[in-house]
Amino acid sequence: MSESKSVGTVIIGGGIGGVALAYYLAELGEGDILVVEGRELASGCTGGSMGGVRQQFSTPNEVELALRGLNFWQTFEETFDYPCTYHRDGYLMLTGRQEIYDKLGAAAEVQRAGGAPNVEMVLAADLQRIAPWLNPEGLIGGCWTPDDGRVNPTDGVYGLAAAARKLGVKFRQNTYISKIEKAKGGWTLQTDEPIKARRVIIAGGLGSPELVRPFGLDLPITPMMVHYGFTTPVISDQPLPMTIDLDSGFCVEREQDAAVVTILASSSPETYGVDDMLMEFAEAAAVRAPIFTEVSIRTTISAAADATGGDGHPFIGEIEPGLWTMTGFDGHGTMQGPAIAKFTANLMSGIADPVLDPATFEPRRHLGETQEWLRASRK
Ligand SMILES: Cc1cc2nc3c(=O)[nH]c(=O)nc-3n(C[C@H](O)[C@H](O)[C@H](O)COP(=O)(O)OP(=O)(O)OC[C@H]3O[C@@H](n4cnc5c(N)ncnc54)[C@H](O)[C@@H]3O)c2cc1C
Repeated sequence: MSESKSVGTVIIGGGIGGVALAYYLAELGEGDILVVEGRELASGCTGGSMGGVRQQFSTPNEVELALRGLNFWQTFEETFDYPCTYHRDGYLMLTGRQEIYDKLGAAAEVQRAGGAPNVEMVLAADLQRIAPWLNPEGLIGGCWTPDDGRVNPTDGVYGLAAAARKLGVKFRQNTYISKIEKAKGGWTLQTDEPIKARRVIIAGGLGSPELVRPFGLDLPITPMMVHYGFTTPVISDQPLPMTIDLDSGFCVEREQDAAVVTILASSSPETYGVDDMLMEFAEAAAVRAPIFTEVSIRTTISAAADATGGDGHPFIGEIEPGLWTMTGFDGHGTMQGPAIAKFTANLMSGIADPVLDPATFEPRRHLGETQEWLRASRK
């Protein structure tokens, strides 16, 4: 491709958002699309994700996006003819506090009203059937969604990229964009060999705020470190849903015959590291699931998620003529990213969404407080 020639559409960011958007735009018939990635595809938040896919949210917008995301991942292999197993392990949110149990019950109603067929409130005495290894002492119960599950989002990105390539999308990796500048007939993206584009979409995850700041936009997307560990084999003969104790942050999920373990908190001190997490996990496990105090940790991962402030919604829209953003997935972009990308591709193509209002996501909107309390973390 000649550098002086203008590309039709450049998407900055090769995570789940950017790659899915390239696919959906191409599927709608757009040609001349280039995805530019500063490192390698899926090397940002997406590569660090725990891959959880849940419908358990408490507000209609989040439930709508979550259900679309759930459907995307459940049907991924047949849609894209690419291996990316959907592990239907289910999600189990637990609490010993009546007020949180009541809020889970209200959230379950929102999920059912949004079309989720399989949402069950369970009492502590019923938990044996779902998670036999769990100690229900001190719990009131929780919410159980057996259709939820987990995926490997990196497989998803590569599957989407393969499908996008078949539709003519081009990819350029190891190309970091330091600045976006207005140019005649479009934009110039500053990198070793500047790229000219008629239209640009910023899907850079944690890299997005820096790119949009010169356009007078201060996006509250900040890194939130998450540490997790992979155990030695454990209870491979028993069901192991993604289990989150909302009181302690105790969280486990299945990984082959072993488990992934972590403590989920909405914030932690800057000095909080993987050893602190493992210590907290051991304390919580001693109460909630003593079997997990007997495992060894084979390896750990620490990665930054894309915490999104204000109302917690992503920033989707045109911030200057021909310059768009689609970013800020608030730590649930694996499950919701592809659905958000499809919504964005439709919006860019003038196709109205039957449910979601674009104003909710407008990048320059007034930012209120989030109404969504069901972020998967200690309450
Ligand atoms: C530890 C952890 C656990 C998580 N668990 C879950 C989970 O269970 N379920 C779930 O749904 N979500 C989870 N998430 C969140 C999810 O991974 C993110 O919300 C999602 O991946 C964001 O996708 P994205 O495409 O917007 O960003 P990214 O995946 O970060 O992609 C953006 C890309 O843009 C590139 N980029 C940035 N700036 C530039 C630039 N200037 N020039 C060129 N390229 C640039 C980056 O290199 C990056 O590859 C988790 C995240 C982490 C870190």
